[in-house]
Amino acid sequence: MPTPVEIPGLDVAKAKRYSRTRLVVLLGGTAWSVARMAWFASGGRSARVRRATGGAVPDRLAGPAYLAATALLSWLTSLPLAYFGGHRVERRFGLTKQSDRGWLADQLKGAGLGLLLQTPLLAGAFAVIRRRPRDWWAILSGATVPLAVLISNLAPTLIMPLFNRFEPITDPALVDRIRALAERAGVPIADVFRMDMSRQTEKPNAFFAGLGNSKRIVLSDTLLDRFEPAEVDSVVAHELGHQVYGDIWRMIALSGGLGVGAAYLTHRLAPPLVRRTARRTGVASIGDEASLPLLGLVSVLIGFVAAPIQAAFSRAIERRTDRFALELTGNGEAQARTDERLAVESLADPDPAAPVVFFLYSHPPIAERIAAARAFDTKQAAATA
Ligand SMILES: [Zn+2]
Repeated sequence: MPTPVEIPGLDVAKAKRYSRTRLVVLLGGTAWSVARMAWFASGGRSARVRRATGGAVPDRLAGPAYLAATALLSWLTSLPLAYFGGHRVERRFGLTKQSDRGWLADQLKGAGLGLLLQTPLLAGAFAVIRRRPRDWWAILSGATVPLAVLISNLAPTLIMPLFNRFEPITDPALVDRIRALAERAGVPIADVFRMDMSRQTEKPNAFFAGLGNSKRIVLSDTLLDRFEPAEVDSVVAHELGHQVYGDIWRMIALSGGLGVGAAYLTHRLAPPLVRRTARRTGVASIGDEASLPLLGLVSVLIGFVAAPIQAAFSRAIERRTDRFALELTGNGEAQARTDERLAVESLADPDPAAPVVFFLYSHPPIAERIAAARAFDTKQAAATA
């Protein structure tokens, strides 16, 4: 499969250390959250918090109060790992210049937002579970699809500006090139934006936001400032490919399908688990908000099955989108250099272990993408010779 590719400028040992560190943090974080949920569920702790929060507010708000309190506790207890395993690691590897204070401000904003969005949604979900004990899984998984559509549309205009600045790109040459590419791909775009992503990360990025006529493409400052024009074109061409094939809808459809499966499995697995542990947890049914840590444990289990499916689907989409971009620009060398630069700027592991790719990689390994881009040029040259 992936032929060994030499990536100029990439410190392979450092990239390896970085991906190993991230893996350890991920596994440690999962173990930590499983341990936390098990501890919180057992000994009647969750049930006690549920009673205490219930005693402090009117009956109607007892559920939401418990959910908000546990969200806060869970955020606080995961903060140290997020700091040392996330922010400090990125700093040490030179992948962010964000200060501790800036990082914490982002964390606080994110937590506040999460609390505001999550609490009413979860409270509503528990109300559905109580009222429809047989088919709640179908109702809830059905409701998450329009919700996902809504959030993915509102996020770029309502949520992302809380964290970053967006400004229209004024360089007319760049805008003209992007518009010409978009026109050739048959994708209407309203605006081209620059985003100060360097506030959080040195890793370059680009994405589409909005729907229909308000569609805009957003390019990170890290991309615009460090990549050659032909390389920016390659990145834009790739994003156009996602638009042409409606990949956001495909991903939403897949998540919807997986969501139905996950909800049904929870419906089958969680009630017996709750019943069997009732004496130790003090929780009698999954309609009780205090069953949240037990539901969390079940969802971690389901996540192990869902993650590789989602990753494989995404890799297939990315592979096809790379091919589309090559056809659109006709410039395999520019795409290969873009990928090389991306690898250097984000310290990509040049040959990740197969199980890591299987479980975690939403994109094909970078060496494979580079090889595919160069192979495209070779094939083109052979065809015209
Ligand atoms: Zn992509």
